[in-house]
Amino acid sequence: MILDGKGLAARRLELLKEDIIEEGLSPTLATVIVGDDPASHMYVRMKHRACEQVGISSVNISLPEDTTTRTILERIRQLNEDPDIDGILVQLPLPKTIDTEAVLAAILPEKDVDGFHPLNMGRLVTGLKGTRPCTPKGIMTLLHEYKIPIAGKRAVIVGRSVDVGRPISLLLLHADATVTICHSKTENLPEITKQADILVSAAGKPGIITAGMVKPGATVIDVGTNQVNGKLCGDVAFEEVERVAGAITPVPGGVGPMTIASLMENTTDIARNRCEPFI
Ligand code: NAP
Repeated sequence: MILDGKGLAARRLELLKEDIIEEGLSPTLATVIVGDDPASHMYVRMKHRACEQVGISSVNISLPEDTTTRTILERIRQLNEDPDIDGILVQLPLPKTIDTEAVLAAILPEKDVDGFHPLNMGRLVTGLKGTRPCTPKGIMTLLHEYKIPIAGKRAVIVGRSVDVGRPISLLLLHADATVTICHSKTENLPEITKQADILVSAAGKPGIITAGMVKPGATVIDVGTNQVNGKLCGDVAFEEVERVAGAITPVPGGVGPMTIASLMENTTDIARNRCEPFI
């Protein structure tokens, strides 16, 4: 079974658009991008296009590569204080000269649409209500919508990044999976991945997951977004793994669209709760 993230995301965005109209909401997302990395600019454009599609207003603040941390913090402060802005997203990665942790921590937790603020991360760890990072949230939505059993199942995550690997591990744990996290120092990776009922690869290494690493019938979620010879591909050697897996996400058309749908949902949720104190 192909897990069609593109189709599911399109349906969710349609529903969200109706909700926004019916509830009389006027959500607004602000994005901040620093430098001129073409891929980052493309992602930001895609996010603004999705906003337009569902009726979310959006503004973009584009700053030059040599912007200082102090200047970014000042722009974040202005967005925090602006009552017309619901969600703030800083496009990552920031240039190496910028203190990324300070920037993410400067966003008001209640406007932190990516869920990367330490308070929201803490809420994720403890299982409290809070904004969840978009890619892991999108993966969970995909699993739920396709009714993939999670409770009691063995989940293996390849990758331990703060934006994908760790949060998806925690969400799967909260959903009662038995979770193993692998990384670049993991020994005998195939031995571990082969035990997975749900295998999530977020390594950013094209073709790292081969058929021999996958348990027959497993659900394989490919987060990887890699460019090989100008072509977008995931971490999973799709053609061979598809024959072994029970369900698999394609790249493109799997996790990517679900990430954007989650961003739209997070922005709308924040707009819904804007009058309520967050903590
Ligand atoms: P990241 O910060 O570079 O983290 C990669 C992780 O993979 C690290 O934990 C690293 O281990 C681990 N890793 C690397 N090589 C490995 C290997 N050979 N064996 C086992 N583990 C290995 O990347 P990220 O931000 O999590 O993103 C991962 C991928 O997902 C990238 O391709 C990115 O473009 C993509 N992505 C896609 C979406 C989407 O919406 N589709 C969203 C976010 C990211 P160490 O910690 O030991 O270095």
